Amino acid sequence: AHLDRIGEVDGAVHAFLHVDTEGALAAAKRVDDDIAAGKPVGPLAGVPLALKDVFTTEGVPTTCGSAMLATWKPPYDATVTRRLKEAGIVILGKTNMDEFAMGSSTENSAFGPTRNPWDLDRIPGGSGGGSSASLAAFEAPLAIGTDTGGSIRQPGSVTGTVGVKPTYGGVSRYGLVAFSSSLDQGGPCARTVLDAALLHEVIAGYDPMDSTSIDAPVPPVVAAAREGANGDLSGVTVGVVTQFSGEGYQAGVLRSFEAAVAQLKQLGAEVVEISCPSFDYALPAYYLIAPSEASSNLARFDAMRYGARHGDDDTRSAEEVMAITRDQCFGAEVKRRIMIGTYALSSGYYDAYYGSAQKVRTLITRDFQQAFEKVDVLVSPTTPTTAFKIGERADDPIAMYKADLCTIPANLAGTPAMSVPSGLSDEDGLPVGLQIMAPALQDHRMYRVAAAYE
Ligand code: GLN
Repeated sequence: AHLDRIGEVDGAVHAFLHVDTEGALAAAKRVDDDIAAGKPVGPLAGVPLALKDVFTTEGVPTTCGSAMLATWKPPYDATVTRRLKEAGIVILGKTNMDEFAMGSSTENSAFGPTRNPWDLDRIPGGSGGGSSASLAAFEAPLAIGTDTGGSIRQPGSVTGTVGVKPTYGGVSRYGLVAFSSSLDQGGPCARTVLDAALLHEVIAGYDPMDSTSIDAPVPPVVAAAREGANGDLSGVTVGVVTQFSGEGYQAGVLRSFEAAVAQLKQLGAEVVEISCPSFDYALPAYYLIAPSEASSNLARFDAMRYGARHGDDDTRSAEEVMAITRDQCFGAEVKRRIMIGTYALSSGYYDAYYGSAQKVRTLITRDFQQAFEKVDVLVSPTTPTTAFKIGERADDPIAMYKADLCTIPANLAGTPAMSVPSGLSDEDGLPVGLQIMAPALQDHRMYRVAAAYE
């Protein structure tokens, strides 16, 4: 049924870069056979899923939205991919994304934009716009994204779906093509909080193949989502981050947020205001740290080891072939990041830029620590505006970057955060998201609050 639905609507939405019909039907049949043979299967066995095209899939194209990897078929599965398969989840295909996960609109894909199912003239968020759009268009009930600065939560917010960035190190990065290694985190996308929790427990957990993987029990997010569903938040203290309002925020988004806070109070939560002054510097710090790590990570695309090779006519040196290939295959935003990152890391500028950004990162972590001494979770709008029009911010990188104003602090601190649908804006009738943030390894706290609010 989901493959049929993809056939009907994906021409217009373009959530998928690759639909693996054969692989999906074979995976579904394996689950049927297991059930027929009386073998035990997991709670999500047979449930279809859309996988962001940044996770490697053995023998199935993995492009990262880039011309650089247009024809690459990885020889191995990412740990996330492997765990999905082991759980009997049916991978329908790979979803569209901003090139190498750099963007907030999915317009930076080399293969054309994804459209928001709520309004096809608008963006579905980014970088994981394909994953969230596939949920909103009912092409898949579950999806996987990655969140380096908001790429799960912001698409979730603007498509009216749930998106979770787990604690950094909670989900293995093995086989997740690196953008900014100290920030990248895979996570679940779904239409309900409980669905996201069930998927979270499938993909999370220690992995010796990822040196930053946390060797600790997976937070009990399914139990928390079930507990929250009783709608009782008495005993929970919620902090409203005062920095996330004012200029740049749509009035409709702020009114939706106020209504959400009122509802949390009604459910029994105690609500207090919390100031996190260093959050004002999160965006500039992120746009030094993420491009710095990207400039290093993307050096591997050298026209030799994988993917595309252009200009190799037996007269040119390896360096010339590399330069021609990178010039032709990287898009404008990826080139911008490589240049910013290389500059920020260069000797003489390192202390002024990268070093300062790392200090800001520490201050942001401290703001979180101090806040969580007073409150159980923090809340804010997920993103300052509803889905904007395709093309509206395409020539204005700074306007594009501002979509991640509220989401970036949690990436810099490594703490978990999620977006849960918060109704439609009374300004334009488009979906708004409520962001809930929790301390490291306390992912279950935000699931409880989200399930109660949902
Ligand atoms: N939009 C942000 C960026 O362009 C975040 C991307 C992400 O989380 N992958 O870097």
